[in-house]
Order: sequence, then structure tokens, then C-alpha cells
Amino acid sequence: MQNRDDVTKATDLSEDDLIKIAKSIIAKIYGESSNDLLTYLTKNEYVAEETLSQDTNIKSNEGRRILQYLSDEAIVVPDKIRVNGRTVLHIWRLNKPALIAFVIKKLRRAKEKLNLRLKFESKNTIYKCPQCKRIYTLEDAYVNDFYCQHDGSLLIEEVDKEKRVKVLAETIEKLDYLIKKIEQSWY
Ligand SMILES: [Zn+2]
Repeated sequence: MQNRDDVTKATDLSEDDLIKIAKSIIAKIYGESSNDLLTYLTKNEYVAEETLSQDTNIKSNEGRRILQYLSDEAIVVPDKIRVNGRTVLHIWRLNKPALIAFVIKKLRRAKEKLNLRLKFESKNTIYKCPQCKRIYTLEDAYVNDFYCQHDGSLLIEEVDKEKRVKVLAETIEKLDYLIKKIEQSWY
């Protein structure tokens, strides 16, 4: 993800920026090797099942798993092409509008989650486990005698609450800006 200065400076979000964001989202689910597949797809606009692993250096079952996911999101659509007049290849074509919609959907969902977190954290006294960093409300901490359920460490009140809330609010603002930028540039 870009930092705020980059976003602010950019008058438009380039296609490369957008693909970079899409790659990082998909890599979180399917690992870094999905980057190679998306790089290939964006460069060539389609990938053929028959040459998938040699084109992308991804094992074909792994590649198919990623393609299935992309297909569920309509980011790739199945097609067939004929090469050299006779050989038929089963291909997956990149659907850029769906890719853009996918990025916006994921960013919006991340923003919603952060909004909930922000509401929760600004309303409640927060306790934190120094060991595993899990967060507890006062009620949950009380029920557990102020010990972590998972590792038995003594819970400590989160004193940097204001800082946490500020960081959350800033992150939400950044996401909001990014979503608007994408919508302006691509819709
Ligand atoms: Zn813990």
C-alpha cells in the first residue's frame, strides 16, 4: 500500500498502482506466487491452462486454485482461442473492470472493519496482554481475573489508547482517500 504522500501527490491513480494494490490483496490470500500469475495476466491479458506453469513458473494445481478464486470474483473469464490455425487453447482472460471493483470492495471492507475497531476502542477501556498482544474489554478482563485466557499473563490497561485511536482514524482516512481516488480515476 502507498503512503499518504504518494497518494496525495498523484493526480490520478495509474493502472500500475491499481494492479499493485490488487496483487498485495491477492498475495495475502494465496501467497507471493500469485504475483507472478497476475503479472503475467496483466502483461498478456490472458493465460492459457495448457501453458500455465511454464508461462508463470507456478505449479499448475496452485495456479488453477488462484485462477478459480479470480474466476469467482469475475476477475478472469474463461475463453478459447485457436493458435497456429488448429491448436485450441483454454484461456482465462483478464477482466479489468472486475479487478477494479474487487479492489474497491476489499478496501471498503477493510475500512468497515477499522471503523468498528475505532468505535469499539474509543468507547471501551482496553486491556492488553503483554505476551500475545490480545485485546480485552474491561468486562472480559474482569471475568478472567485480569489474566490472559491464552497464556495466563497479567493483563495491562492500554494507556496509549488515544494514540491507537488516532492511528486508526488516520488509517481510515487514508483508505477513504484511496477508494475515492480509484473511483474518480476509473469510474
Ligand atoms: Zn495473552
